[in-house]
Amino acid sequence: MKINKSKCSLVGFGLSPSLVNNLASGWGCVVGDWPMMYLGLPLGGNPKAIGFWEPVLEKVQRRLQKWKRAFLSRGGRLTLIQAVLSGIPTYYMSLFKTPVSVINKLEKLMRSFLWEGVEEGKRDHLVKWERVAKSKEEGGLGVGSLKEKNEALRAKWLWRFPREPNSLWARVVKSKYGSTSNGWEAIPATSVTSSNPWKDISAGYHYFLQCCRFEVGNGNRVRFWEDSWVHEGLLKDSFPRLFVLSSKHSLSIDQFVDSQVFPHSWDFGFRRNLNDRETAEAIEMLEILEGFRLCASKRDRRRWDLEASGLFTCKSFQSFLRNKGSAATFFPFSNVWKAKSPPKVKVFVWLVVLGKVNTSDLVQRKRPFMYLSPNWCVLCKLGEESADHLFLHCPFSLSLWGLLWREVGTVWVIPERCADFFCTDFVVWGLGKRASTLWGCLVHSVFWNIWIERNRRIFEDYKGVGVSELWDRVKYWAALWASVTEDFKDYALSIILRDMAAVVI
Ligand SMILES: [Zn+2]
Repeated sequence: MKINKSKCSLVGFGLSPSLVNNLASGWGCVVGDWPMMYLGLPLGGNPKAIGFWEPVLEKVQRRLQKWKRAFLSRGGRLTLIQAVLSGIPTYYMSLFKTPVSVINKLEKLMRSFLWEGVEEGKRDHLVKWERVAKSKEEGGLGVGSLKEKNEALRAKWLWRFPREPNSLWARVVKSKYGSTSNGWEAIPATSVTSSNPWKDISAGYHYFLQCCRFEVGNGNRVRFWEDSWVHEGLLKDSFPRLFVLSSKHSLSIDQFVDSQVFPHSWDFGFRRNLNDRETAEAIEMLEILEGFRLCASKRDRRRWDLEASGLFTCKSFQSFLRNKGSAATFFPFSNVWKAKSPPKVKVFVWLVVLGKVNTSDLVQRKRPFMYLSPNWCVLCKLGEESADHLFLHCPFSLSLWGLLWREVGTVWVIPERCADFFCTDFVVWGLGKRASTLWGCLVHSVFWNIWIERNRRIFEDYKGVGVSELWDRVKYWAALWASVTEDFKDYALSIILRDMAAVVI
């Protein structure tokens, strides 16, 4: 293989320009400049400068331009944002701390794309971005905030450091900064002047270590006092007085017991005899240690506490950073997101549950000066239109629900609010898989078709259909969505439509 010198450049580091010039002409290649691109990342640039991130911003913008002519539903836009938009910056973000202004710009692009499309003009952003960023289990759309994503991606290096002791990068970091006395962590870079990725990465230790716990084997790589290896947290924090008295700071667990004898007798190396209060604390600590046993043949291991597998994932750490341990559960999660309707319908149902669809009451509150038509519900022309009225309590919708109850052979009281509806687990047609699939589709289809009917009556020259005709549409769409699922692969659409109760048994 020959080196193509016209594609090569020589970049000097700490050398005089004339020397570099001479060397380059001797080689027959050109002189390059800092920052240079190396393996797709800018080398020698300053990640704190906006210019460093220009290529990322440009790329994201370019992708959006490409999509502008495509007709995309909100569900489709969401998928694209997740798949590509948040994927493009990942490469940079996995190493460098992203400046807030760049994150804001990127998120603004994502936000407008989700709610407005590109060049569709200003539209309402129906739900706050902080909410959208949350995972679906927590009530968001699972887009993720870039700041947390950036932190979680960089934390991956903290996880990898002790697992890849022989890799070049780990050796460089270790020789430059040293490692902690248990050997698991590289010491954070703290100097004020140093501006390097490791400084920003190691700044993330605080939250990272809260999510790690040691699984003790032979106990020679886990420090008794300073490492997290019992459920109660660090022993030096739980028993600060005893820690001060101990002469064995920084020593590993195997230095505290004789592993040959079980039950272990502990030697904490106290500098003097304990008084009554300290003795009581020591007894408390011994209770925590009771039943603990070193296993000489097993190595100490670090577990990632947020995953059952014990292995680090960016997703789990992102969620931890977002909630700092107190994640709120979004109870309608499975009824909204596990249903087999198309993504655009699910996003719509999610908006209904949050009370964020643009019904008259909301529109009037947002811009009272613009809304001229009467505030009534277009389906019954009696009540005022709110989401709960439109979808649940409107006489028109109630008749539609009545037809659904008849179809599934049961009757329920309609809950007061749409959110309550999706928090309820209705069991219809037994507990079979096909039954729950078809039921989920039917419910989504009712909400979706009421909304379509309502919009057509308001925005089109259209008189509307009666309840029984709308019910046919509800059934048709539900059966269609169900028919393409794995559960119904042996059932044709017409068969499902002919007798729903028969195909779910
Ligand atoms: Zn009504």
